[in-house]
Amino acid sequence: MNAEKISEPSKEELLLKITEQEMLINELLAEKEAEAKLDYPWKGNLGHWYWNVQTNDVVFNPLKVEALGYKMEELPEKVPYDFFTSKLHPDDFEPVMDNMREHLKGSTPVYEVEYRIKAKDGQWKWYYDRGKVTKRSKDGAPLFLTGIVFDITKQKAKEEDLVDLTSTLIELIDKDELTQIRNRRSIIRELKSRIVESVIQEYSLIVSMIDIDDFKRLNDTKGHVYGDYVLKETAKTLEHVLKRKGCVGRYGGEEFLILLPNMSKEQAVNVLEDCRSAIETNEFLKNESLTISGGFTVYTQGDHEDAVKDADKHLYEAKENGKNQIIG
Ligand code: GH3
Ligand code: MG
Ligand code: MG
Repeated sequence: MNAEKISEPSKEELLLKITEQEMLINELLAEKEAEAKLDYPWKGNLGHWYWNVQTNDVVFNPLKVEALGYKMEELPEKVPYDFFTSKLHPDDFEPVMDNMREHLKGSTPVYEVEYRIKAKDGQWKWYYDRGKVTKRSKDGAPLFLTGIVFDITKQKAKEEDLVDLTSTLIELIDKDELTQIRNRRSIIRELKSRIVESVIQEYSLIVSMIDIDDFKRLNDTKGHVYGDYVLKETAKTLEHVLKRKGCVGRYGGEEFLILLPNMSKEQAVNVLEDCRSAIETNEFLKNESLTISGGFTVYTQGDHEDAVKDADKHLYEAKENGKNQIIG
């Protein structure tokens, strides 16, 4: 053992050592930060955050605030917790808090949220935030959390564009281009589901096929553009008369399929007669007479094709019987 006595460092020497250490730590941190900026290969990665629950200290990568348009220099040295939470979109605030509360309680394995957060210029950014309690006390209380946050604004914009595009496509796929009412595909789908519903809920379903009388002659004498106009106005009139009582789709050329769910035969006759007379007394044609014929059936059994066939059979009778009438 060395007998030479090691002298105790003076207070000044200790302070100097601490200052040196602090400088070294700061340099290392700055280096790490610069490295992180360059070295985050995942798109939108804004780095990690650490939350000491006991002291309520939050340490985060500067990228998290820089992405919002702030510079670290303009922020207080200790950024309070509500610096971020106060900038959350009002619709996202509670879900984010709930998610965190559930995780802190230990009910969920991770804290995982997407939220809108207001940038300095007032624009909304989308962040994806994911974290986890990494240390709990013996009785399970959360002590420390570690997480990572991503800027997903661009992905969200693409997602929203896709949702818009999809709903436009869905609308287009079900709409008849000329008349803008349901097309054949859509009204048949509706018929199929109404058949199932009427069986389960035990209500009576009326299926009716409507056909414009002598439409070929109208086309031949007035031209197809005029014929198109008549088709559009007829569709509009039928939809207007039906309102919430039922629905109508263009089945083909000048044929329309009408569905009247939850309606007795007598009620259906009234509604379909209203349709017929609305066309006969229409105001969209000035010097031209226009009439429709219709056949209908009360669905009892079979599939949707059987229902259409039955309605068609009665339509044929209406035509044979002199047109401009409804037969069921
Ligand atoms: P009926 O009273 O027996 O029903 O005779 P109709 O002349 O109405 O029936 P027909 O089946 O002989 O003719 C239907 C016509 O509908 C023939 C076709 O040119 C026309 N048509 C079908 N689709 C369209 C369309 O989109 N636009 C126009 N302008 N005409 C159409
Ligand atoms: Mg026809
Ligand atoms: Mg016809």
